[in-house]
Amino acid sequence: MKILLTNLPKEKSAIQWVTPKYFMPDKSKYIPLGLISLATNIPKKYEVKILDSSNRNLSIDETIEKIEKERPDILGLSVGTFKAYQMTQVLKKTSAPYKVVGGAHATNNAEQILKQGADAVFVGQLADIDFAESIEKQPKGIIYCKTKINDIKFPDRSSIDNEYYYANGNLFKSNKRISMFSGVGCPNHCRFCDVQTKVVQRKNPEQVLEEMIYLKSIGARSIHIYEDNFNTDEDYLKQICDEIDKRDFHSEWSGRGQAKMSLETAKMLSDRGFKRIHVGIESLHDPTLRWFKKPQNYKTIKKFCDTMNKEHIDMVGFFIVGAPTETKDYRNSMARMIKDLGIKYPLFSILQPLPNTEYYNDLLKDGTYKTDFWGDFIKNPTPDFMLPFPYGEQKWKEDADFVQSLIGEFKR
Ligand code: SF4
Repeated sequence: MKILLTNLPKEKSAIQWVTPKYFMPDKSKYIPLGLISLATNIPKKYEVKILDSSNRNLSIDETIEKIEKERPDILGLSVGTFKAYQMTQVLKKTSAPYKVVGGAHATNNAEQILKQGADAVFVGQLADIDFAESIEKQPKGIIYCKTKINDIKFPDRSSIDNEYYYANGNLFKSNKRISMFSGVGCPNHCRFCDVQTKVVQRKNPEQVLEEMIYLKSIGARSIHIYEDNFNTDEDYLKQICDEIDKRDFHSEWSGRGQAKMSLETAKMLSDRGFKRIHVGIESLHDPTLRWFKKPQNYKTIKKFCDTMNKEHIDMVGFFIVGAPTETKDYRNSMARMIKDLGIKYPLFSILQPLPNTEYYNDLLKDGTYKTDFWGDFIKNPTPDFMLPFPYGEQKWKEDADFVQSLIGEFKR
């Protein structure tokens, strides 16, 4: 039995209103952790291959050709909604006898994906054990996943070319930087955010350290905890630090999380090699933060930044431009405020109504969008789908120009 697991090409993706390319160097790649985790948790008696069409920059045709050449018995696709078009093409033009789909798109649109040619759709953020158990029986239809994070083995990188995934040319000094995850989900409810899992699952600290030690042993010199929101529980961070001490582990590391941390926790992390936090600041304007339903305000952000600066933890700050609450005064002072807060690496994007968010649903409810554009795209995905901007051409131009000016201000 041969199993091929693949993500989808970037070609013809729906368009994201994100930070322009040159802030995210091409050489920086996202290791397909989800696929590697699935592969690791499949019993050894099966032959498993991973095809990373996205990072390898394959076209849709090349991806289909490679899949057909492998002739897998089971084809597993990991799909985000922005790649719904590519998914329909791969489902239509490949001949594997059992095709399954998982990932964020699957969780939200399972019925639709079955109609588009999948034999089974895995619903839920973690599918490792459920997928492994489905290999023999190959059930059809919707499979509601019950995988618990501590029941899965961490991703075994021995079958992939780790050198290829080291993020050379990224924003940091180490060129041997590799990601892992220690948990999934976020308990917050920001109105623009599509992280749906509100029940946070975290790995046991012993397992987290096992993986960090493993990554160091295969050559990583910087480890990034790539997660929805890694620092919501300071007791958990304390347990990780205790484990670091117990295992006498030394390495540079970083994490992705929220703008809230006590000085005591920041010091504890900094003393143990924690060098950077990638943090969703989003705005420095209180009415906008309230509109975002972000559980923070300028005062708490300032306190957080002071804490990070005091403990010499660099900040990669994510900012969103274009909320209807932003004022001219705020825009005029935003760059200076970011500099004053000591945020070294700000990244900017334009507020985009993502599917399955409160923001998008509100635009439909209040009539700003007269058509459910995402719903139509999901039913009939088209290449290079561009969601119409909700506030008209002129504001689009203003927002795009403003983001460009901010990028110019912070360009290195
Ligand atoms: S934006 Fe960040 S803090 Fe807000 S819900 Fe999403 S992951 Fe959580």
